[in-house]
Amino acid sequence: MPYAYDDQNIFAKILRGEIPNKTVMETEHTLAFEDIRPQAPNHVLVIPKGRYVCFDDFAANASDAEIVDFHRTAAAICAGLGIAPGDGGGGYRTISNAGEAGVQEVPHYHLHILGGRPLGRMLARAD
Ligand code: 5GP
Repeated sequence: MPYAYDDQNIFAKILRGEIPNKTVMETEHTLAFEDIRPQAPNHVLVIPKGRYVCFDDFAANASDAEIVDFHRTAAAICAGLGIAPGDGGGGYRTISNAGEAGVQEVPHYHLHILGGRPLGRMLARAD
């Protein structure tokens, strides 16, 4: 079954300019802005401008141009923040939560870029 996209989600409102954001970078297909509740000194959200619910929806249904633009933009942000290891930066983590088990709060695909401090292990053990 195809994903049902909710036009009232908060990132759709940001894309329509109905809610302000602190833009980090904008391209033809992609917008990146600061997370409103940062969990690290660097916490940027990268979103496609298209109507995609989560990672697998984007990967399956976005155009090649959108997918390339999205990833090149995310990488350019890491470079711009000075956290990309290839440039001598201290490293970062990208996270994309999807659906219920992934505890996705906003149903518009987004990549979190977190950096600026040691981030610890990826997941806390549940047991
Ligand atoms: P998720 O849990 O869906 O992966 O993450 C959603 C993220 O969106 C959270 O980190 C949350 O802080 C952020 N967020 C929620 N509402 C807003 C908003 O209105 N503006 C911005 N900039 N970030 C938001």
